[in-house]
Amino acid sequence: MKKECVVSTLSAKAGEKVTGVVEFPVNGKPFSLPVFLINGKNDGPTLVIFGGIHAAEYASAAAALEIGQTLKPEDINGCVIVVPVVNQAGFPVRSIYLNPMDGVNLNRVFPGKADGGPSEQIAAWLTKNVIQQANYFIDLHGGDLIEALVPFALFPETGNPSVDKASLELAQVFGIKYLVRKVGTAGSTFSAVAGGGTPALLVESGGQGIWPRKDVECLVQGVNRVMRQYDMLSGGKPEKVETIVLQDFIWLRSEHTGFWYPGINVGEDVQKGQVLGKVTDVWGNTLQTVTATATGRVLFLVSSLAINNDDPLLAIGA
Ligand SMILES: [Zn+2]
Repeated sequence: MKKECVVSTLSAKAGEKVTGVVEFPVNGKPFSLPVFLINGKNDGPTLVIFGGIHAAEYASAAAALEIGQTLKPEDINGCVIVVPVVNQAGFPVRSIYLNPMDGVNLNRVFPGKADGGPSEQIAAWLTKNVIQQANYFIDLHGGDLIEALVPFALFPETGNPSVDKASLELAQVFGIKYLVRKVGTAGSTFSAVAGGGTPALLVESGGQGIWPRKDVECLVQGVNRVMRQYDMLSGGKPEKVETIVLQDFIWLRSEHTGFWYPGINVGEDVQKGQVLGKVTDVWGNTLQTVTATATGRVLFLVSSLAINNDDPLLAIGA
């Protein structure tokens, strides 16, 4: 008989969908987390989907919620666990990057520490109670409130050939064109999950505090494609899409605190040496002329006029 799908106090029998809020202590106070469990009638892999670990990356939360809401247990094989908004404290206050409980980036503390700070405790609980059940793990992201981007996917390289191959396949199947190989991003969900032996992926779509249909759709359809690939949904294997594995993702940073005037748009092709924008002081004097250090496409662009020393300005996929 097919086993139940269980997260803490929630459990879904075979052929059942259960939604609810799980609660666990963080610094001794109850922390509540809405979860969808969709347990198919037939055996198959367990897929775990996270959204909103960065609380203002709205397309990710909207997509995760839609996936949880629309998937029907009668249509799927295996089990899908969706946590639509991981950063529960950050969502209502529209927090950029951080968990307001401790000012820590939740996506830098995985697999977490049960006796650590609030973010580490949340990560440890999720690792033990959710992630460890996964056969495949997908973390949905996007540009934050002050970031515009062209959709891209990060896949982990751990040095374990079978896990790395499976993570690359996840990336190729998802349907996003630009793929970036990441060797060990300390504490990020997908690196920690892959380090534990489970194929994992981080995908980015949307940004700037809006969630256009096309960006939500990109993430929803990507998960749908992955589920078809592993026979969790009917419809056959998804059509192949062209992907480009970028050799390098080059970050350009501000060397000053001041005003950021980008001179290019996200998605634009740029040449090495091209002027991409400037950082000025409050009087309008140029403090830094930003030039492209490589030829490639601008996949990520900070759209905030206010900029701090060492903030990222843009990233070129080369
Ligand atoms: Zn993010």
